[in-house]
Amino acid sequence: MKMRTCLTLLVLLVAGHCNKVFIGDQVLRINPESDEHVELLQELEREQDWQLDFWLHPVSSELPVDIHVPYGSLTAVKEYLRENSIPFSVMINNLQELLDEEAAEMTESNDRERNSKSFNFGTYHKLETIYSWMDTLVAAYPTLVSKEQIGSSYENRPMYALKFSTGGVKRPAIWIDAGIHSREWVSQASAVWIANKIASDYGNDGAVTNLLNAMDVYLMIVTNPDGYVHTHTSDRMWRKTRSKNPGSTCRGVDPNRNWDAGFGGPGASTNPCSDAYHGPHAHSEVEVKNIVNLIKSHGNFKSFISIHAYSQLLMYPYGYTCNPIPHQAELDAVGRAAVNALSSLYGTRYKVGSICKIIYPASGGSIDWSYNLGIKHSFAFELRDTGRYGFMLPANQIIPTASETWLALKHLMMYTHEHPY
Ligand SMILES: [Zn+2]
Repeated sequence: MKMRTCLTLLVLLVAGHCNKVFIGDQVLRINPESDEHVELLQELEREQDWQLDFWLHPVSSELPVDIHVPYGSLTAVKEYLRENSIPFSVMINNLQELLDEEAAEMTESNDRERNSKSFNFGTYHKLETIYSWMDTLVAAYPTLVSKEQIGSSYENRPMYALKFSTGGVKRPAIWIDAGIHSREWVSQASAVWIANKIASDYGNDGAVTNLLNAMDVYLMIVTNPDGYVHTHTSDRMWRKTRSKNPGSTCRGVDPNRNWDAGFGGPGASTNPCSDAYHGPHAHSEVEVKNIVNLIKSHGNFKSFISIHAYSQLLMYPYGYTCNPIPHQAELDAVGRAAVNALSSLYGTRYKVGSICKIIYPASGGSIDWSYNLGIKHSFAFELRDTGRYGFMLPANQIIPTASETWLALKHLMMYTHEHPY
């Protein structure tokens, strides 16, 4: 099946394997100027024939819209935009070129890693490399770090959380997950760097040491392992899980529309072919269910932080409603302070707000679920950038992104430690 797809696309010679190709595809940046523009763009989003992949959805005239347009639909889409006087610019001229550059960088870096037997935090890695690196980290810090399998994915891959703990039983804990949307590669890559940072800072950095003497940290680097493997082997732009949808040829559920928090509400799709498909029922995705089980059975998580890309945002609940949460003022202030810390490193600018207000209503999200469970300090990051590269952030930005994100993360973790509830 895979082989036939390759042959029909005549890509074997070009790509050398069965990866989906994006030759000539463009990413358009659109700045809608009116509500009418937004509505016209929403209409475009419902148009299935053009196979558009919305990186940023049309929500309001204040927010940009990024659309990945397949080569074959470019003329039609541009005509539609011009006819309706919607201004746009070409953000990525040939998506495949960026994919090729990324792949070349990975190959080169992997060779260097193999020769020098050292791990390069400034490159993207395959799942198996990340998993074996986890063992290296555990081996280097055996009294602090352990690898816990919290379950398996739909395609039966292990799901690992790194646990940073200096002892005790079910101490108050912080949950951090990355890569629940598989194509947001800087999320997983930053989480690798951050895992190493937490381990190496213990005993050297006073704040991290104090924190880990009182609390545990759980960090899941690859929250959607099936999707992540799929982005490496088949489709770099894959976002969802890989579960089969009965009655549909389209696979996968958006694992961040699948949580039991306003499930099936606004900003989620009932269509299995949509990138925002919420799934047949809440927690239908085993990847989500595994985390739900861990968090509930542990029972003492005080913070829940989810790391996505892109847009440079730090968000708190809710996504499923624009009504403010009871702790809105507190989380907003903490978020702003965290973002100030982040910006202090390179001047990267972040916005802070509730998911619903700052981007759009999105139901079934993880931090809404954790907040409603009583985990007050629930946050979600959207890391770099603001759209120049989008999901194709060059590898040379991984370490700068991780380093600045760490400052915000550390602030959130310290705040949780210093404000028990
Ligand atoms: Zn995401």
